[in-house]
Amino acid sequence: MLPYMDRSFYTNDKCTGCGTCTRICPVKNIKLVNEQPEWLHKCEFCLACFHWCPQEAIQSSELENTIQYHHPDVKVSDMLTPDL
Ligand code: SF4
Ligand code: SF4
Repeated sequence: MLPYMDRSFYTNDKCTGCGTCTRICPVKNIKLVNEQPEWLHKCEFCLACFHWCPQEAIQSSELENTIQYHHPDVKVSDMLTPDL
């Protein structure tokens, strides 16, 4: 069921369509449609998209009591994968 854990993800109205989530996902599981992310059901549930969205726009019914966190010495530019 792991690949389908992304069904729990949704975005709130803070999403700007910046595309950071599409570039940070290590398995290219997110695409933008009309400037909003859609998850493609090959998720590893690493939570990179959740933790690195600059707007804290990604929500999940599985993460209701989870706050966004990343290591203070790691920048988002360290995490992004190049566009293919
Ligand atoms: S990183 Fe956040 S703000 Fe940017 S497109 Fe993804 S959900 Fe929207
Ligand atoms: S949880 Fe990880 S693998 Fe799943 S969509 Fe987000 S970044 Fe990609």
